[in-house]
Amino acid sequence: DADLLLGIRVAPLPEGLVLVLADDLTHARRVEATRRDFVANVSHELKTPIGAISLLAEAVEEAADDPVAVRRFAARMGIESARLADLVAQIIDLSRLQGDDLMGQAESIEVDDVLIEAVDRCRVDAEQHQVSITIAGESGLRVMGNHLQLSTAIGNLVENALVYSDPGARVVVAARRRVRSDDDYVDITVSDNGVGIPGDQLERIFERFYRVDYARSRANGGSGLGLSIVKHIAAAHNGDVTVWSQPGRGSTFTLRLPIHLPTRQELDDDAAVD
Ligand code: ADP
Repeated sequence: DADLLLGIRVAPLPEGLVLVLADDLTHARRVEATRRDFVANVSHELKTPIGAISLLAEAVEEAADDPVAVRRFAARMGIESARLADLVAQIIDLSRLQGDDLMGQAESIEVDDVLIEAVDRCRVDAEQHQVSITIAGESGLRVMGNHLQLSTAIGNLVENALVYSDPGARVVVAARRRVRSDDDYVDITVSDNGVGIPGDQLERIFERFYRVDYARSRANGGSGLGLSIVKHIAAAHNGDVTVWSQPGRGSTFTLRLPIHLPTRQELDDDAAVD
């Protein structure tokens, strides 16, 4: 097999060495295939809003004598341009996340602050969707990491919960400490009682650009990148993200992060603030 992968005949090598070579090559090929898929997906996703904008530009030209139509087309162009800008920003976020050594510059972060900030950013959308958001669970928990990235991850989960819920629904965001044998974690859950996700698609939703309901995602400006960004942020914090869901009953996403027990200094600083 090693001969085949290298494309040349090699003298018999000690077994361990052959395995390492074959494994490295398979890995390199997998990385290359993923990169090619990503570029193909990005091109495809960019083509949709760019195509819409150029069609709308033609429509504006043709409707030059009809101010009402011109205004309508111009408004649509604005929406499609904003979608394009969001998409590009998300693609840049994703590629940065892959290159960053996040834990090298990690800070002690108060989970409450992250939850409050992420939820505040979603308030306008919550009103638009007529969905209420509640923060519950324990307070005073800390993790090590990057405030902006954690708040982006929670924000993405809350945004999804709003989009895939019906008016009148409720979204609950909660942090809880979970101690299991040697491990001590903070579980941040985002729960909705919305449309839910079919069991056979649960594994795929964290893939880049994967959408269960394309029409609903796109109508809400979704790119299919939100959950893959959450997954990368979780991994960069030595944590993970999992989902429980049932069609018609709703979904709960859990972002699990290693707990950071506050140092004496942090406890003193907190006391000084209080
Ligand atoms: P999108 O931008 O399409 O929301 P995501 O990566 O955030 O992309 O999510 C991928 C897909 O997972 C969505 O298109 C949607 O079908 C499904 N999904 C995500 N969150 C939820 C949720 N809370 N309830 C139901 N479906 C969800």
